[in-house]
Amino acid sequence: MSAGGIETLGDLRGKRVLVRSDLNVPLDGDRITDDGRIRASVPTIRRLSEAGARVVVTAHLGRPKGAPDPAYSLAPVAARLGELLGRPVAFAEDTVGPSARRVVQGLGDGDVALLENVRFNEGETSKDERVRGAFADDLASLVDAFVSDGFGVVHRKQASVYDVATRLPSAMGALVGAEIDVLRRLTVDPERPFVVVLGGSKVSDKLGVIDNLLGKADKLLIGGGMVFTFLKAQGHEVGKSLLEEDQVETCRRYLTEAAERGVQILLPTDVVVDTAFPSGDQEPTPRVVAADAIPADALGLDIGPDSARAFAAALSDAKTVFWNGPMGVFEVPAFAEGTRAVAQALTEIDGLSVVGGGDSAAAVRTLGFDEASFGHISTGGGASLEYLEGKVLPGIAVLER
Ligand code: ADP
Ligand code: MG
Repeated sequence: MSAGGIETLGDLRGKRVLVRSDLNVPLDGDRITDDGRIRASVPTIRRLSEAGARVVVTAHLGRPKGAPDPAYSLAPVAARLGELLGRPVAFAEDTVGPSARRVVQGLGDGDVALLENVRFNEGETSKDERVRGAFADDLASLVDAFVSDGFGVVHRKQASVYDVATRLPSAMGALVGAEIDVLRRLTVDPERPFVVVLGGSKVSDKLGVIDNLLGKADKLLIGGGMVFTFLKAQGHEVGKSLLEEDQVETCRRYLTEAAERGVQILLPTDVVVDTAFPSGDQEPTPRVVAADAIPADALGLDIGPDSARAFAAALSDAKTVFWNGPMGVFEVPAFAEGTRAVAQALTEIDGLSVVGGGDSAAAVRTLGFDEASFGHISTGGGASLEYLEGKVLPGIAVLER
């Protein structure tokens, strides 16, 4: 069975609807530095509001330790959400306490409220089903129905994602629906050539994806910090570059397996190195070296220009691309060119280009690309990776029951 959209909830006029959104935005003090996730959450909230529902949004921010912490208050997010919606958003100073009850009670048809950070409650992320369940009971008692729209959290078995859906008539929001559609197109009979580009910092985060996609992709391009474990697996020295020694053997096995299956794995032939990891107070001194000749005192921080060209060429005829993880330390301009080249190549393909991963999405925006020139920019790094690993996402499965 597949989960239904909000139309399956029937006439929403006057109904109180809890929406789990992903509003986990980066903050500098109380200034929101990237409101991408808030903007992505607006369509579902707006649709519910226009249908006359009394919309109660719940979300988390950061990782508070199951208790209130002003540093992680959603108050600035409520203000920004109101601006984007073009209507006031009532803010409850707790999640299921007296303030939440008062705010929800005060809602008229079409009104929108945001509850304080759901992770201020230990029940939200508790591994103890009873503790989580009790909190889910409190959340469910505020409303009449539930809409799951926080794609960034659907891989989590948490009260506001999973348990609450077992207690209320529930539906899938537009954002989660769109994300799942795209992921399905990547995994069920993708149009070929299907090219997967992986980068980012940790190889161990991405092993499951490599494992699952080796059987589906035509080409796998690898860059970023994780590439050095692969270069090591090929017998090269990587100097002071990021290296996960305990994954070298696994990477070697993937290289062999790819060769056997006829999947092309492309690794960089040159890398941009420096003698230290970039820090604010020191001018970077980048230089390009061959990938098989990284000096012992250097660390690789980006793929080199030859590799960037080769990666772009390998992408040029792709009909489906999934990209997760920057090619280098894109936060520093001297090490951003590999990431820029891959992003540029994705914008030029004649087919479906998907960007997954928090930092990859941020890279696309920071480097000044127009989001509309990509087929899809996913809002959930962990969730898309788990889906592509072939894992069941609890927050989706619970809607399909
Ligand atoms: P995503 O969030 O897109 O899944 P990751 O979290 O896996 O991506 O990785 C992003 C981080 O990887 C970025 O902060 C980037 O600076 C870092 N990174 C990329 N290349 C390297 C490298 N060669 N050495 C160290 N860190 C790197
Ligand atoms: Mg990340």
